[in-house]
Amino acid sequence: MFSVFKKKSSQSAHIFKDVVTQEYHGINQRDLSHGSLRVIEVLQHAGFEAYLVGGGIRDLLLGKHPKDFDVATSAKPVEIQKLFRKARIIGRRFQIVHVRMGPEIIEVTTFRGSAENSHLQRANASGMLVRDNVFGSVEDDAVRRDFTMNALYYDPSNHEVLDFVGGYDDLEDGLIRIIGDPETRYREDPVRMLRAVRFVGKLGLQLEADTAEPLRRLAPLLRDVSPSRLFDEILKLLQAGHGQATFPELVKYDLLRPLFPQTEALFGEADDLHHQHLIDLALLNTDKRLNEGKSVTPAFLYAALHWPKVQHRWEELQAEGHGRAPALAIACSETLDFNQQFIAIPKRFSVTIREIWELQMKLEKRHGRRPDSTLEHPRFRAGYDFLLLRELSGEIQGGLGEWWTQYQIADDALRRDLIASVKDDQDELKARCPRRRSKRRD
Ligand code: ATP
Ligand code: MG
Repeated sequence: MFSVFKKKSSQSAHIFKDVVTQEYHGINQRDLSHGSLRVIEVLQHAGFEAYLVGGGIRDLLLGKHPKDFDVATSAKPVEIQKLFRKARIIGRRFQIVHVRMGPEIIEVTTFRGSAENSHLQRANASGMLVRDNVFGSVEDDAVRRDFTMNALYYDPSNHEVLDFVGGYDDLEDGLIRIIGDPETRYREDPVRMLRAVRFVGKLGLQLEADTAEPLRRLAPLLRDVSPSRLFDEILKLLQAGHGQATFPELVKYDLLRPLFPQTEALFGEADDLHHQHLIDLALLNTDKRLNEGKSVTPAFLYAALHWPKVQHRWEELQAEGHGRAPALAIACSETLDFNQQFIAIPKRFSVTIREIWELQMKLEKRHGRRPDSTLEHPRFRAGYDFLLLRELSGEIQGGLGEWWTQYQIADDALRRDLIASVKDDQDELKARCPRRRSKRRD
């Protein structure tokens, strides 16, 4: 079967090309985005090479539904722009062009080269590429990509998949293999380490041994990546529907430490299983909501990821004699401020994270008018959901979540009964958290 449908031909001295025909790969043109096919048609008609590449083709070959399709072409950014009425050059590390086709925005990139000595490519002291706008051939472009499965080029005009790096065979074997020398490639761009574990979680494939080997050793290089880029990468990692499967991979390869050092440090403590459980539940909750098509806010996940430290500090500060409310406020500020140097959380989310944390204390107060005003809080729902996860994780006991579940649906009379049933918030709190009481001075 292989020899009938899969032709192999040598391209140059060191680059080989596999051509995988339609009968073999079975990609159905109907599953491809209309906009990207149209973009390729226009580019090819103008005499340029153009292919679909990246995650879209990979996911189709795995029988999954692709998120989007990227186009790679021999046309330069300005040449691409001239061919389309609605096209914008986006200049980040690599120049790319966004072409609008009806409701779709197609990302079009020019083949990138690897001219080591070019003044257009620069690496810093740890080997990280800081400027990278050298153009090249499709073969050059393939070897510049991260993993072999992400470097498959589909040509809609003849339905062939071009493979210069053995990606097709790796996909068939379920292997994620980095292209080239693993250490060099991770040093060039440490985010590739996060991408490696992201694909494990998302696709359920395995890291090939040489691809996995340097991860633990090189994990600290993530400290060199800009905190705002890391924020974006963490969203793709943990808030794209596969967070629960991906998080343990971060832990396994020591990648949690450079990203969430305080959380990682507390994970080592024997009595901290409930925090791991809390994070696991928050990830599960997020995956579930996403898979049901519901909205999610990064604030909820970050509230869970940093909660171990906040909760720990909250207790510590109270033991040092701070009041319960000021202690929480200080713990929140300290934790958020400290972690900005690793992952830059935009202000609009950090405000919400703080509100979710501060609601944990407000939700404890259930006398007089307090419950009604807490219920009015714009973040009540997120704070209440967070409280439920804390209870489920075993961090706190005592049915506070259940009380709020009832309170929300109760009529006025029942609400008065519910309030009366709580004798004293503080007494009740102490009964619920004996461990905490022993640490307090009062
Ligand atoms: P997803 O389906 O999650 O979008 P993807 O592989 O398409 O996965 P993108 O971030 O959309 O990920 O990137 C598109 C393609 O660009 C990748 O498939 C890969 O070929 C290439 N690429 C992306 N990031 C890197 C990187 N850091 N280093 C090298 N190549 C990269
Ligand atoms: Mg993609």
